[in-house]
Amino acid sequence: MAGYDYDLFVIGGGSGGVRAARMAAALGKRVGIAEEYRFGGTCVIRGCVPKKLYVYASQFPEHFADAAGYGWTVPQASFDWQTLVANKDREISRLEAIYRKNVQGAGGETFQSRAMLVDPHVVHLLGEDRTVTADQVLIATGGRPAPHPALPGHEHCIFSNEAFDLKELPKAIMIEGGGYIAVEFANIFHGLGVDTTLVYRGKEILSRFDMDLRRMLHETMEKKGIKILCHAVSEWIRKRPDGRLDAVVTGGKVLTVDQVMLAIGRLPNTENMGLEGVGIEMTKTGAINVDQYSRTNVDNIWAIGDVTNRVQLTPVAIHEAMCFIETAFKGNPTAPDHDTIATAVFSQPEIGTVGLSEDEAIKRFSDVEVYRATFRPMRHTLSGRDEKMLMKLVVDSASKKVLGAHILGPDAGEMAQLLGIPLKAGLTKDDFDRTMAVHPTAAEELVTMYKPTYRLKDGERV
Ligand SMILES: Cc1cc2nc3c(=O)[nH]c(=O)nc-3n(C[C@H](O)[C@H](O)[C@H](O)COP(=O)(O)OP(=O)(O)OC[C@H]3O[C@@H](n4cnc5c(N)ncnc54)[C@H](O)[C@@H]3O)c2cc1C
Repeated sequence: MAGYDYDLFVIGGGSGGVRAARMAAALGKRVGIAEEYRFGGTCVIRGCVPKKLYVYASQFPEHFADAAGYGWTVPQASFDWQTLVANKDREISRLEAIYRKNVQGAGGETFQSRAMLVDPHVVHLLGEDRTVTADQVLIATGGRPAPHPALPGHEHCIFSNEAFDLKELPKAIMIEGGGYIAVEFANIFHGLGVDTTLVYRGKEILSRFDMDLRRMLHETMEKKGIKILCHAVSEWIRKRPDGRLDAVVTGGKVLTVDQVMLAIGRLPNTENMGLEGVGIEMTKTGAINVDQYSRTNVDNIWAIGDVTNRVQLTPVAIHEAMCFIETAFKGNPTAPDHDTIATAVFSQPEIGTVGLSEDEAIKRFSDVEVYRATFRPMRHTLSGRDEKMLMKLVVDSASKKVLGAHILGPDAGEMAQLLGIPLKAGLTKDDFDRTMAVHPTAAEELVTMYKPTYRLKDGERV
């Protein structure tokens, strides 16, 4: 469209926005992309990447302890938080530069600026105090931690964003929330030697995951020394004269900690962006409504990733970006496929999961077989660590289709990625059974559980 400055203008330089900008530019489209903070977005700057680096950091004390059973004497270890933060910063700066360069290398133009819509085809770049025009506009502005203004003393709390860059490692922390971010940070801080309490209002951490995994992870985390209070919320937070915080939780229990981290959900970034002005429909929580092709109710405006609150994961945002490119620029309308998404929780031990949980399966299928094994992973035989691994397959008895695969234990995330393929392909338990095991591995259990552990008919165990 020669009349506009750009064929595509992307607002938000995170996982989804950068991918869409790069792909469109590589097709020869004139592309602009604005990022108000740092290219790479949540995932690279304050999400998946720094989180995983901190998970690695927090695992070393267990590795040192486990080494003794293998004959190693490890001298007294010490940890320096500032070194970890500085090294993390170096790595994310390197990635940030790559993200920006990838867009520019494909021919896109990058802007370091907040952007808002003035009109369906006009974007105001606040950092540059000018407007640009575009034929198509893609909103990929992601989300941010949900605040908790009703909590007295909420101003003393931090969120995941700040947790990555604390000046000092706290001696004690309370984390509120039961989702994967809360659980992962509880394990990170505990592993780094912080006295950690997880407070969650629900009956069990990690709702939506298989209950077996949730319970076993809960038990294992408690055995390590993480305190978990379910059916509890913080009622107020007060600063003490010594600078520490008192957090009062349900029942009047007072926790004295150095930091309180809130991980109680995320909100889409749609405020003060001119979206109402151009008539874009949003949900009550501010997520942008889109059709199956990620198009908003305004014809030339699209939205992908966390801002649409479909599935808030990096690979999903990237997949939605690729589908958007097919639809908008390749004449090949492609709806993102959100079915059977493999995912991990980088807790300690890790969770890897794909497909239906047992509870979901019995709601949809009248006859379900569950194959379940718990065992001590081989590396813990000599280390002496009293930690079990759980593997579980949920199968439709009638068709033998594997509906869900759930793992708790070392490398569960890596296994979930590979299990994502057979489950996506709709393979059956018979296909698993005729697959040769790889020995000695933990994963071989997945193809050697020949007999169902139990069966559920109309939800009843038989
Ligand atoms: C602590 C944490 C851990 C996570 N771990 C994982 C994980 O292990 N695996 C996984 O798959 N996912 C993980 N996620 C989720 C993942 O980070 C997001 O799903 C993903 O980043 C979404 O991509 P996006 O493109 O939709 O948005 P984002 O990556 O959030 O990018 C949006 C960008 O838009 C910018 N922006 C916002 N408004 C404007 C504006 N008006 N103008 C210009 N720029 C704007 C923001 O600064 C941001 O950079 C994690 C998230 C968090 C918070």
